[in-house]
Amino acid sequence: MNATKKFEFQPLPYSYNALEPFIDKLTLEIHYGKHHKAYYDNFITAIKDTKMESMDIKDIFRNISKFPMAVRNNGGGYFNHTFYWEGMKASVVGLPTGNLSDAITKSFTSYEAFKKQFSDAGKTQFGSGWAWLSLDNRGNLFICSTPNQDNPLMDLAEKKGTPLLTMDVWEHAYYLKYQNKRPDYIDAFWNVVNWEEVAKRYDNALKSMGLK
Ligand code: MN
Repeated sequence: MNATKKFEFQPLPYSYNALEPFIDKLTLEIHYGKHHKAYYDNFITAIKDTKMESMDIKDIFRNISKFPMAVRNNGGGYFNHTFYWEGMKASVVGLPTGNLSDAITKSFTSYEAFKKQFSDAGKTQFGSGWAWLSLDNRGNLFICSTPNQDNPLMDLAEKKGTPLLTMDVWEHAYYLKYQNKRPDYIDAFWNVVNWEEVAKRYDNALKSMGLK
């Protein structure tokens, strides 16, 4: 099987300037067109002529400790960025609704408390990495961060679960506009979260666990 057919480099779901002024056009052009594309290309190279070519990416992550570091770093970089792009949208300040809103309130006491905990996960991730909201295998929400290009789907993740929302805190995600001020980028991120998409992911995750 041709890996580039199975694993596509999906188009960005909006234009480069769609997330302005919170995430600027030049950052998005370089982040998607150069960084994300490089992870994708290197992932395809790393799995070429191996059994991973025919595996689902989530199965690769579930067994990532058995595979070369190049697959972990570039497969993570490929998947995490697509998930990050799809979790954002043009700036219509939204809030979680319905079941998801109820679950956030139940797990974190309030939306504001959730926002603070997720923001802190991003702010305190030392060096490069990601902040995540995920669902554990009993259907409970949790927040964590991962280093480098790791994610909660990987067998070696400290906290494992199904990701619902992610935020890239690598410097390349914010440096052109925010320089060293990661907290300013994190504050701006809340203006572009695609809560409809997060709610869809939450429902799908509950359904696949038989909890809905
Ligand atoms: Mn990135």
